[in-house]
Amino acid sequence: MDGYDYLIVGAGFSGAVLAERLASQLGKTSLVVDRRNHVAGNAYDFHDDAGLLVHKYGPHYSRTNSDEVINYLSQFTEWHPVHYHILSWTHGDYWPFPINLNTFEKLIGKNASPAIMAQTLAAWRHDIPSPKNSKEVVLSQVGTRLYEMFFENYTRKHWKRDPSELDPSVCGRIPVRTNRDDRYLSDKFQAMPTEGYTAMFEKMLATPGVTVALNTDYREAKADIRHKHLIYTGMIDEYFDYTHGDLPYRSLHFVPETHDVEFYQPTVQVNYPNDHDYTRIVEIKHVTGQQHAKTSIVKEYPQDFERGREAYYPIPAPDARERYQKYRQLAKTEPNTLFLGRLATYRYYNMDQVVATALTAFQAIAEKDPTSTTPDLANPES
Ligand code: FAD
Ligand code: UDP
Repeated sequence: MDGYDYLIVGAGFSGAVLAERLASQLGKTSLVVDRRNHVAGNAYDFHDDAGLLVHKYGPHYSRTNSDEVINYLSQFTEWHPVHYHILSWTHGDYWPFPINLNTFEKLIGKNASPAIMAQTLAAWRHDIPSPKNSKEVVLSQVGTRLYEMFFENYTRKHWKRDPSELDPSVCGRIPVRTNRDDRYLSDKFQAMPTEGYTAMFEKMLATPGVTVALNTDYREAKADIRHKHLIYTGMIDEYFDYTHGDLPYRSLHFVPETHDVEFYQPTVQVNYPNDHDYTRIVEIKHVTGQQHAKTSIVKEYPQDFERGREAYYPIPAPDARERYQKYRQLAKTEPNTLFLGRLATYRYYNMDQVVATALTAFQAIAEKDPTSTTPDLANPES
């Protein structure tokens, strides 16, 4: 194959943003390889056999507070504004989730005000001034009863760890509100790409100078691809041949079903903290805006990660992070190589955080040497 300025491993957000920026702003050529048979990484969506637009790797809800991210992505897509409404199924009923005034009223069986809810939570919550883990964070917000109803078993099922073994940010990212705002997320911008994620990625990667090779594993192809720099967005332990042992990840098994009804469930997502082996059922049609007589849903079963499976989640916990640090040290000494994204930097990132990090990384490359073909690669983490 020809020589490229950059070889980019992974056609997800990290790889696609860098490829597009390097080509459109600096005139650099890149080859983006992905071992999957499609672009868009975990955000990939496609039309299933029934013609419904579905997300292959779990629901991807676009949201951000960053104008930079909105402005950047808006070059490649129109948006379909939406709010993500979710319910939790437990104790034989649907409950408004995240916890808000409607949830509270249902729990106590009578009307209440924000002030009454706040007073009651103040009495229920545990006095933990600086929560050190996800259990403490929820107990410090809402107390034992709501923790056990909504968080304890969901978290154990999803992570195969007790909430006390996970960073506060894991359960802490779910808001608790004393008003009737029942949106799952609080970000100012919440919208889905009108034509879907894959269409957005196809536009980004159509930038002249960007070449994409699918079904191409970096480990097998690297010897044949001449390139000056490497941007790597896969698993960092795999890159270094597991020299410091396997990093822990959590995987998922997705079971899709198509039903001959317009809608299967009341909201885009129903969580199952205490029933079934799956954690949630997602019916993405609620937020894509697609009109169709049928509907497709996906049941999401957590599963152990082992080599050869998809590593969907790095584990946000101190012991896992400590192991990652050994790889991080190795990464710092790797010449002409930038490690980027959820798997290569072992972070439980959302899409907007990945895009923002990729834009920052590009900026660092551009500022260091905007004209040369051999810029020093700046690592956004260092
Ligand atoms: P990825 O999207 O993982 O892309 C990495 C790519 O590298 C993959 O396509 C992989 O095939 C490829 N690759 C790896 N190794 C090799 C190799 N050796 N050779 C070739 N190719 C390789 N974020 C949100 O903002 N909102 C959500 O609602 C949301 N929901 C999510 C739900 C689930 C179930 C999951 C797992 C994630 C969710 N995310 C969500 C997070 C989002 O998916 C990530 O933040 C984002 O996709 C990360 O982009 P990335 O480019 O870092 O990695
Ligand atoms: N969580 C929970 N109960 C729920 C929803 C979430 O305990 O009904 C916890 C769980 O630990 C989960 C975390 O909060 O992993 C973050 O939830 P989110 O829905 O943001 O997870 P993701 O979409 O990233 O899987």
